[in-house]
Amino acid sequence: MSDYQMYIDGEFTEAESGESYATYNPATGEKLADVAKGGREDVDRAVAAARRAFDTGPWPRMDVKERSALVRQMGERIQANMDTLAQLEVKDGGGTIRKAMMGDVNMCAGVFLKYAEYNETLSDVEDLPDYSLMPGLPGVPNYLKYEPIGVCGQITPWNFPLIMASWKMAPALAAGNTIVFKPASITSLTALELARIADEVGIPPGVVNVVTGPGGTVGEAIASHPGVDKVAFTGSTEVGSRIMALAAPTVKKVTLELGGKSAAIVTEDVNLELAAKGVLWGTFFHNGQVCESGTRAVVNEKVYDDLMSLMQEKAATLKIGDPLDFATDEGPLVSQAQLDTVERYVEIGKKEAKLVCGGERATGDGLDNGYFYKPTIFADVDNGDKIAQEEIFGPVLSVIKAKDDAEAVGIANDSMYGLAGAVWSNDIERAKAIAEQMRTGTIWINEHHLLGPEHPFGGYKQSGVGYEMGIDGYRAYQSKKRIHVDSNTDPNAHMTFSLLFSS
Ligand code: NDP
Repeated sequence: MSDYQMYIDGEFTEAESGESYATYNPATGEKLADVAKGGREDVDRAVAAARRAFDTGPWPRMDVKERSALVRQMGERIQANMDTLAQLEVKDGGGTIRKAMMGDVNMCAGVFLKYAEYNETLSDVEDLPDYSLMPGLPGVPNYLKYEPIGVCGQITPWNFPLIMASWKMAPALAAGNTIVFKPASITSLTALELARIADEVGIPPGVVNVVTGPGGTVGEAIASHPGVDKVAFTGSTEVGSRIMALAAPTVKKVTLELGGKSAAIVTEDVNLELAAKGVLWGTFFHNGQVCESGTRAVVNEKVYDDLMSLMQEKAATLKIGDPLDFATDEGPLVSQAQLDTVERYVEIGKKEAKLVCGGERATGDGLDNGYFYKPTIFADVDNGDKIAQEEIFGPVLSVIKAKDDAEAVGIANDSMYGLAGAVWSNDIERAKAIAEQMRTGTIWINEHHLLGPEHPFGGYKQSGVGYEMGIDGYRAYQSKKRIHVDSNTDPNAHMTFSLLFSS
């Protein structure tokens, strides 16, 4: 029997095939648990359960207060289980315990609480202007009714398993949808804990289904299933585009949150201490395994050398070590595969630019069997270089020189991505002018990484389609129905009929 089973129709269950796969602790390389390995037939079971729960079950029809209360209880239980969830998140996916407790569990809980509140406070009815056939004629009342979309397929990556699950599950559930959720294979455990919490608080069977297993089978089956009404995906641009294609034949609604290669622009009037710490925070938090990481720093040439020295100095102080130790700044990367990707890009970078720090695995002191890598900075990068254009998803910063703000903006925008970015400057009006010219969905001025349940997050260009979080993220799980209410029952009073009937 697997250590972790899937959750379908209110039951924890093995895969129909009986197969399982191993998940590993990236800090030690040791096996952590066996997880049920789902296939197409398990997706069929989950979609059938979600379909029943949506078409005939209580969830979409439940009183708003009752449904919000259950979503809120999920948030409260997540918060109450902080220690267990944070430890599991770190053991399964790396990172650090500090990040897991202060960031992951807190945000995950907060997202459930916020969407419970949105469900209670946002009206599902909105007035529209009266409809007039011609100017001057009396109008007929119209209104909008928001309704849940139906069965939502949701697929998430490995970098923030709990947070990504909350961004998908909470708005979908609060709005009255049912879900078939697939976590990344290598970090499935905390999503299964969320399923356990959903079960414990009494969310009805079939509303939440979590199917674990490979993207190539389980993910594809979800994205193409005729019983699924909407697909929401976070991950690479390549797979996102594949998901769009799989969803197209049945015209599913699609939300995609994809890759990025965000730029951090540094102006010459900046407080250098702030910029040095800020750019490193923007890049090296969670080893750069964040879609909105600022992995391209575009620095004004007047402060370039001074900033480079400060950043090198500060990067060397980051403590790499046991992710469960509160003193650790950088834990392991998520997997051997991700470590291989980083090593491959660093070799490319060494040919394209000048390596000024890191550039190798971190070893010794119990690190040898884990996937640890030193914070790495490349200087004199050209924006056309591969390390400036491609998403590495690791602790690698590419620093590019710019002569003025206009050139910096041009460099920042010269990317197929448009997810996020930052401006580091002492002059806020100047920073705002730069921010407004950057073609991305989020920009921070003198900050990075701050995402919140009330603030919409979405990508320009090949970084995504649609929005998550905020009210937009809630409405993304609703259909909008226009209702036209003509209360005049006299057939002779309907001028429209004359468009068809000549007599
Ligand atoms: P993927 O985009 O491959 O995976 C994300 C999710 O999609 C996982 O659950 C995965 O399942 C699933 N998936 C994979 N292939 C398919 C498919 N054909 N149909 C449906 N679902 C599928 O990201 P990776 O984890 O492989 O990382 C690769 C690169 O993607 C990273 O190096 C990084 O550049 C980028 N990335 C971007 C993220 C972001 O937030 N923008 C997050 C993570 C990665 P499974 O886990 O089983 O493969």
